[in-house]
This record gives sequence, C-alpha cells and structure tokens, in this order.
Amino acid sequence: MSLPSAPLPRRVGRFAPSPTGPLHFGSLLAALASYCDARHVGGQWLVRIEDVDGGREVSGAAENILQTLRRYGFRWDTEAPRQSARSARYRQVLDALIDAGHVYPCACSRQRLQHAPLGASGERVYPGYCRPMPDKIVPFENHETAAWRLRVPEMPRRFTDLVQGEQSQHLPSECGDFILKRRDGFYAYHLAVVVDDIDQGITDIVRGADLLALTPRHLWLYECLGHPPPKYSHIPVAVTPEGQKLSKQTRAPALPENPLPSLLTAWRFLAQTQPPQSFSTPETFWDWAMAHWNPSAIPRAISLPAPFWCPRNDGRSRV
Ligand code: GLU
Repeated sequence: MSLPSAPLPRRVGRFAPSPTGPLHFGSLLAALASYCDARHVGGQWLVRIEDVDGGREVSGAAENILQTLRRYGFRWDTEAPRQSARSARYRQVLDALIDAGHVYPCACSRQRLQHAPLGASGERVYPGYCRPMPDKIVPFENHETAAWRLRVPEMPRRFTDLVQGEQSQHLPSECGDFILKRRDGFYAYHLAVVVDDIDQGITDIVRGADLLALTPRHLWLYECLGHPPPKYSHIPVAVTPEGQKLSKQTRAPALPENPLPSLLTAWRFLAQTQPPQSFSTPETFWDWAMAHWNPSAIPRAISLPAPFWCPRNDGRSRV
C-alpha cells in the first residue's frame, strides 16, 4: 500500500530592489531569474521595496521600478511592501534578540574602528570592543543612540548555494559582530532582509552573487531567530566592459522602453536555451520562458563577454 505523499510546500520567491535609481540590466537579471524560478513550478512571486536606508533612496525611484517591472510583463502576487513602513516590526525582533542575549549595544565611533583589520571582502572586522562577557547585563546609558551588534559564533557557517555550490565562511574573521541597528536609528539591511523574508514566507531566494558573501550573516540570524532558512541561488552579476558590477555608481543605464530585447539578453546571459521563435509581446515571451526555464544551466560566472550583452539605452540590444 502506498501512502499519500505530503504536499510539497509551495515555492515563494521574491525580488527586492532598493529604490536608489531606475532598474538597470543588472537588476533585471535578478528579477527575471527569481520570477522564472518561482513561476515555472507554479509558485508565488513577491516584490518588496528595500528602502530601509532612507538616506540612499532617490525620490520617485520606487514607483518607477514598479512601473518598469509591469511594463516588462512581471506580475506579483501581493502589493509590494516597503521596509520604511516596518520599523515597529524590526524593533520587536531586535528586542527579542536583546532579551535572548544575542545582541549588545555598541558605542564605538567610526574613528575608533578606523584601524580595525580588514576581512576577505575588504570590510572592517569589528574587534569586539563593546562585546560584553556572556550573561553580563551591561548598564548602558542611552540605548537609543547606540548601534546594536549581533554576536557571531566561532564555528564556520556552511551552506550549499544552488548555483555557486558549497560555501563556508568564518564570521569572526570576515566581519565580526555585525550591526543590526545603526547609531543613527536606521535598521541595517541584514536585519530587515531576514525579517521581511520570514514574514513574507519566502522559501527560495534568487539574487546577485554580489550578495553571496553576506549570506552567512543572514543564515546566522535565521538560526538566532529559530527559523529555518530559505534556499539560496546566487546568479552571476552583470559587469561593465571594465569589469565593475552594473549599478547606479557605475552609471548603469536605465532599462529601455522596449522590454523584449533586454528580456532576451537577460535570458541568454543566464545561459538558457535559445528561443526558436521571436516574440511580439513580453507576455508571449514569459509563457515560453516558464516552460523552458532550466535552473541547472545557470553559470556560476558570466558566460558571455561584455560587448555581447551590455545593453545600450536606445532600445536596441547588441545581441
Ligand atoms: N535590495 C538589494 C539590492 O537592490 C537586494 C537584496 C536581496 O535580494 O536580498 O541590491
């Protein structure tokens, strides 16, 4: 007698742009890969606006990003939440972490840390100046103006990324105890991203490989919160012909009005099978794409030389 098998949990993916400028080809790659990854198995796909760092937000960028996604034929399942509206929730989670003794207040100034050693990715490693002894309640005069840091464990964090393979990182030598809330009162990306992914029920995260080195911090935070982590796929990032990641800082052009050339370029960049026909609308492309998406074809690193994929901003692709 065969027992009925338990239904598989439904996949929930997401795209989480920061509203620091218009969508560019680099962000399209993450949007397309996460969309296909969720939809090709009938899963949900959500969008959220990562504006936790109010200082970096460009006015009007969030609406512009959502409009571009719509024009490119993306459809998401719930209204896109904004991190800027979720401070009360982040505070609640931070309080729980304080109660559990995972975080501690830190009064170190930038100047005090300027000679701290650098980790593998060039970040200053926090030397633990304010780290209290375990179980010691630290009297602290003004918690509101302190930064809050999460203690990191000695044991290396290991995980398997579905694109990049086995990963391991020793957090004490990569970054040390890292900040969850900054002295200026803003919550850090690390706290916001994990809390949002938990609250949105995200099961599968597909994003650019530039975030791979940050993932062990997120996994440690999941562990401290007692929540199972999602699966991760870190896709190769698009770079300029000079080898820099496409971003606002490297003046990546906004995506062109006409969606199809860029969608097809992104598809090719991810080493997906060449479509046998051309498409007249994004919708016809998406129907075909969902039936042909092959995550195992995604390369670990860029598979096409830059001149062949770097899109121009005049509606014509070089592919
Ligand atoms: N907000 C980040 C960005 O725009 C993405 C964060 C994530 O996908 O976890 O680069």
